Amino acid sequence: MKKLTYQYVLIIFGISLVSCYPTRNSGAKNNPEIKNVILMIGDGMGLPDVYAAMTISEKPLNIERCKMIGLQKTFSADNYITDSGAAGTALATGNKTKNGAIGMDPQGNRLKSILEIAEEHGIATGLVSTSSITHATPASFIAHQSSRGSYEDIAMDFLKTDIDVFIGGGIDHFAKRKDKLNLLDSLKFRGYEVDTSLSMVLKSTSLKLAGLTAPVHNPYRLKGRGDMLPLSSGKAIEILSKSKKGFFLMIEGSQIDWAGHANVADTLVDETLDFDKAVGVAIDFAKNDGHTLVVITADHETGGVTIVGGDIATHMVKLNFSTKDHTPVMVPVYAYGPGADKFMGIYDNTDIFKKILSAFGLVQLK
Ligand code: MG
Ligand code: ZN
Repeated sequence: MKKLTYQYVLIIFGISLVSCYPTRNSGAKNNPEIKNVILMIGDGMGLPDVYAAMTISEKPLNIERCKMIGLQKTFSADNYITDSGAAGTALATGNKTKNGAIGMDPQGNRLKSILEIAEEHGIATGLVSTSSITHATPASFIAHQSSRGSYEDIAMDFLKTDIDVFIGGGIDHFAKRKDKLNLLDSLKFRGYEVDTSLSMVLKSTSLKLAGLTAPVHNPYRLKGRGDMLPLSSGKAIEILSKSKKGFFLMIEGSQIDWAGHANVADTLVDETLDFDKAVGVAIDFAKNDGHTLVVITADHETGGVTIVGGDIATHMVKLNFSTKDHTPVMVPVYAYGPGADKFMGIYDNTDIFKKILSAFGLVQLK
């Protein structure tokens, strides 16, 4: 009897803790449950890539933990088949643009990104990518250039923002420049800890971190990148979660796309599994935190991947490719956490920006 009373007290105490919990989230307006948003982009990751990875994997993928699924249309302003610049810009800014453009509309006007809007509202922000951090997908969230190939100008654009954490390749675009400027010094001057290796990044306790882990792109996972993506994702989340006003983080698995272009099935599946490992890091955090929305999608499909055979029992799969380029097929959106249901249905890639903005309870300032 005595024991029962003690348990009863514990239950009451537990309920009072639970009821206090949402109050730390008073910053968000529309959905008080949501404090943080993690947007994960598997570059070129079509549905066959995900199913191939599911077939190869001996345990369920982390993506399968998402119960709310949608589909997004990826066409750009000037092409039925998008590139990663136009698709990244659509996801980042809610506007369709020309292929090749970064954070600019088809007329060359700057478009404000979700990352920049979050910064204006005091929300912490971050970017993590396996490619160079100046490559089209991460660049779309922070830079404004008419051409995605202007890597050194894109690196300069990082200094025009208040981004808190970025981890990816691209040291050369900051430090081996035609204009001879050393932007690593500029980053240090602005309060960033600048780390030029993954081991340095993983030791960091700085609230401002520029982690540049390769001269340009990080290699494929199997060619030496190892667990860079899941580990960097965890580090970015660890730092950003110290923000009282929440955070926005974009994490990209860049090289699913490259394996698709190269029509190499093994690498495509391996890069998809690596991306899924990072998804696991994000979802584990979200599950524990309770105030984090995780949205996982692709910018487009690459390779026209078809599964032409396989075996669930032996974890074998056979892929065919129909192109060395991107395709226009819709790509899935998988969502986890508070507000995940808003990502169900069929919509344009531009709606993802709008849905995230609304999840944060933010309006776009002019
Ligand atoms: Mg990319
Ligand atoms: Zn591509």
